[in-house]
Amino acid sequence: QVNVNLTWQVSASPEGVQRTLPGGQVAPAPQKPAGVKNLIAVASGKGGVGKSTVAANLAVALHQTGASVGILDADVYGPSQGTMFGLDQRAEADENQRLIPLEAHGVRVMSMGLLTTKETPVIWRGPMASRLIQQFLSGVLWGELDYLIIDLPPGTGDVQLTLTQSVPLTGAVIVTTPQDVAVTIAEKGLRMFQPVQVPVLGVIENMSYFICSHCDEKTHIFSKGGGERISQELGIPFLGGIPIDPEVVRSGDEGEPI
Ligand code: ADP
Repeated sequence: QVNVNLTWQVSASPEGVQRTLPGGQVAPAPQKPAGVKNLIAVASGKGGVGKSTVAANLAVALHQTGASVGILDADVYGPSQGTMFGLDQRAEADENQRLIPLEAHGVRVMSMGLLTTKETPVIWRGPMASRLIQQFLSGVLWGELDYLIIDLPPGTGDVQLTLTQSVPLTGAVIVTTPQDVAVTIAEKGLRMFQPVQVPVLGVIENMSYFICSHCDEKTHIFSKGGGERISQELGIPFLGGIPIDPEVVRSGDEGEPI
């Protein structure tokens, strides 16, 4: 009789390096939060393309491979990961004022939505949002994580800038829908990562098509092929297309990632 014990380890992406800024000043090397091996940003050009849905499901899918995973909801203007993970309790801090992430579906979650009440509107000026992101990165007890998935706000604003400057991102994934307008804006979002040397891991096309449950006909509701086009134009991998499925909406609303 032979018993085989298989174990594996997720490798960690490198720490950041010092950079010389245009004025000659030296920016300190960005560092990963202690214990976190890889930081993966999920970005989109515009809102409503399913970025948060993809981020939540990516986190759960990585957990199902056996990895330890956290998700940071950096979409401070419209936090939704609390709902997507079915969390309605508040996150608490330890005696050193460090935030303790909540856990659901095997994933550690931190979101502005877990700190405020549902009725509180979140109005952040750019610099406040940036400070909050820094606190989420350094002031949360993430523990040991193979992957920290970061759900970015849509577009290219202060939060994205702060993030790319303050932590060494392992890579970024861009979510887009297939139609031209979304693709053009996604391309702009993509270009934001190039000057800061963040590798773009690829493009995910969401809402690619709809299959009728009665006749099985496939309809390209939001046009066709935008995700593949952008990946060819920019020479980055096309990671795949996700169909429009009412189950995705239901699972997101009910806090059970599909
Ligand atoms: P974003 O983070 O880009 O603003 P969300 O992830 O919040 O987008 O998704 C917007 C809405 O679209 C949500 O109601 C979500 O359930 C729905 N949605 C996302 N992806 C799909 C899909 N593949 N099929 C059907 N509905 C989807």
